[in-house]
Formats: sequence, structure tokens, C-alpha cells
Amino acid sequence: MRHLDPLNNAVTLEAGCILADVRALADQHERQFPVLLGSVGSCEIGGLISTNAGGTGVLRYGNMREQVLGLEVVLADGRVWNGLRALRKDNTGYDLKQLFVGAEGTLGIVTAAVLKLYPKLMVSATAMVSMDQVGHAVELLQYLQRTTGGRVETFELMSQSQLQIVLRHGAASGSPMAVEAPWYVLLELADSAADWNAVESLETALAAAMENGLIGDAVIATDQAKADRIWNLRHTISESNKREGFTVSNDTSVPISALPEFIDRVTRRLQRELPNAQVAHCGHVGDGNVHVIVVFPYDIGDAQVREAAAHEANTIVHQESVACGGSISAEHGIGRMHIDRLPLYTSEVELDLMRRVKLALDPDRMMNPVKVLRLP
Ligand SMILES: Cc1cc2nc3c(=O)[nH]c(=O)nc-3n(C[C@H](O)[C@H](O)[C@H](O)COP(=O)(O)OP(=O)(O)OC[C@H]3O[C@@H](n4cnc5c(N)ncnc54)[C@H](O)[C@@H]3O)c2cc1C
Repeated sequence: MRHLDPLNNAVTLEAGCILADVRALADQHERQFPVLLGSVGSCEIGGLISTNAGGTGVLRYGNMREQVLGLEVVLADGRVWNGLRALRKDNTGYDLKQLFVGAEGTLGIVTAAVLKLYPKLMVSATAMVSMDQVGHAVELLQYLQRTTGGRVETFELMSQSQLQIVLRHGAASGSPMAVEAPWYVLLELADSAADWNAVESLETALAAAMENGLIGDAVIATDQAKADRIWNLRHTISESNKREGFTVSNDTSVPISALPEFIDRVTRRLQRELPNAQVAHCGHVGDGNVHVIVVFPYDIGDAQVREAAAHEANTIVHQESVACGGSISAEHGIGRMHIDRLPLYTSEVELDLMRRVKLALDPDRMMNPVKVLRLP
């Protein structure tokens, strides 16, 4: 750490700091740094900035882009740009720092950053609820945000097919839900005001949601162990899917209101065109970012067959996402994997602007030349 300014709720850090350490540092100063994702123990601030990482906190705090107040960057020509300003308002020309956020290292090397901090959360309540349709999850989110004063900290959707895979391979302690349903939401309310009764507020809100027919069943965690058991279902998805079969995971986003239509369309098409695959869903309803996961049996074939299957699954998910007004990459970026897909779903004007920015900052094409954009 270079500097922590509690009254400005800001911290200046080296790019190599590990996310878990940054979160612990904020905690020591009665603050929180809200970015949280599965790689918390290994990912670095420079990587998080360069991928504009998301995670479960985007709903309330925005993604990494929203956390960055300033940057220090080594440019392709060797100069160091010191943009380590800790300002909430700064309209002095172009917002250069945002060019480097999400650029995947193609425009410069981030060496330090000024990041926002927030009041430390003192109380929280976790629940798992079930529902018949995705539309009810979208409505429930709106309802909870309105009735709890924006205190929804996390709101994660999971399909029954995804829960079954997790239960087969990951969470040995089983599902807390008494009755099966097509869809589940794992959610958390939280606040920095220690005297706010989170559990009571959640109980009241969910009782009303049940009365209105939005949810079928609800389990509210009464202690941390029960909350951990619920979140364990979410955190073991990735490894459970890998054990289940050859997994093709997608990272698309659509407008939140289009989620029900997108999930319906993409699921039907995948089931019709890839009948040997299981389709599972999990993700962040509040970001319109639900991962569509296609799991093929491990004995589907050799590497070439797998590659073709993955290509087919990706194409279906991307096409349906774009047809619903969405993006082919909500949080994982373009990297090398999607470099040839980007032009398929991006206008020529947009591609031209991106190439000009790249060549203006890195005319010799030294910075991560194999990522994001193919240059002529
Ligand atoms: C288990 C797991 C769960 C994940 N969950 C999520 C999730 O929920 N949401 C989400 O958005 N992402 C998720 N991710 C991906 C996440 O984006 C990355 O883990 C993280 O953001 C990247 O940080 P890193 O330090 O690992 O970067 P790396 O993987 O090392 O690098 C990522 C990219 O950034 C570039 N880069 C790295 N450091 C710098 C720098 N200092 N300057 C310029 N360029 C740099 C690299 O060249 C590369 O292109 C997950 C990853 C894992 C492994």
C-alpha cells in the first residue's frame, strides 16, 4: 500500500496487491473494498483493473471501472503517466484512466491505482428462495431494492439443473430447500448501520414476496454457518461443473428486463441443437449477466470434437444474447478466445475507433499484441 486516506475513502495501491489482502486492509480501517470474486485469493489489482472485473458486488457498487479514481501506467513508449488522482470529480479533458480499465494490458501496464473504499458492512442477512420462472427473480430484485432502501448486496440466480450438478459434486451438505423448483435465488441484504435489523427486514420482504406469488419457498439463514452453507452452493459451481463433464461456460449479458426472454430462447435452442448436452445457468441477475453453462459428457470425443462442440455452443449463446440486445462478454473480456468473435458482433465504426486508440498508444504493437483486437 502506498497511502490510505480514510476521510477520502480512498487507498493508493501497487498493481501487484492481491484482492484478498486489499479487502483485509480495508476491513482493518473500518472500511470495505467491495469487489469479490472466486479468484479473490490470487488475482491482483492490476489484473482486476485490466479485465474490468465484476463479481457479486457489481449490483450495489459497480464493477472495477467504478472503483478506480486514479491510475499510474507505464506507456508503450516507456513514459510513466502519473494519473494517481484521488478525486471524485475531475472534468479536465478526456478521462484517460478509463481507457486502460478493461484494456487487458493492450494499451499500457498499470503499476498503481487509487481505489474507492466504502463503509464497512456491520449487519447482513442471507436467504435462498425458489421460484417458477426467471421473470419472478427479476421482479423480486426490483421489489427488494425498493423496499429495503437499496440494501441488496448480492442477488444470484441458479437453475435447478445447476443446483443438481453442485449437489452431485460439490456441496456435500445438501440443499437447504425442502421442495425443488426450476429456479433459485441466493441473496444477501447488508448495511453499515449496526442497529438495522437485517433478518427482520428480510423476513418481512420475503413474506410479502411469497404472498404476491413471486417466490415459492424461502430459507433464511439464522446464523453464519447456515449462510455459509447457502453461499457454498454458489462458490462450488465452477469445480462441480468441471467434474460433471466437458464444460463450456458463457459470459453474456442482456438488459435485466430481457433476461427471461434470453434464457428461454437460448435454453430451448441449446436443447434442440445440442441434445447430448446439459444446460445450466447461474449468475448475477442485477447485472443482466447470467452464465449459460453447457455441459457435454466427458466421452463426447477427442479434442477436435470438443472444440467443435464448444464453438457450436458459444455461437448459439452469443447469437441469442445479441438478438436480445446483449453483449458476448459481460465480465471476462475478449482475450485470445474471443478475438475472432469480436468483429462478428461489433460495428465497423466501433472496431475502427478501437484500432485507432490501440495504434495511437502502442504504434509498435508491443502491448499484449495477441489480445482483444486483430490489427491489419
Ligand atoms: C475462480 C475464478 C473466478 C472468477 N470469477 C470472476 C467473476 O465472478 N467475475 C469476473 O469479472 N471475473 C472473474 N474471474 C476472472 C477475473 O477477471 C480474474 O481472476 C481477475 O480479474 C484477473 O486478475 P489476475 O490478477 O488474475 O490477472 P491475470 O489473469 O494475470 O491477467 C488478466 C489480464 O490483465 C492483464 N494484466 C494483468 N496485470 C496487468 C497490469 N498490471 N497492467 C496491465 N495489464 C495487466 C494480463 O495481461 C491479462 O490480459 C474469475 C477467475 C477465476 C480464476
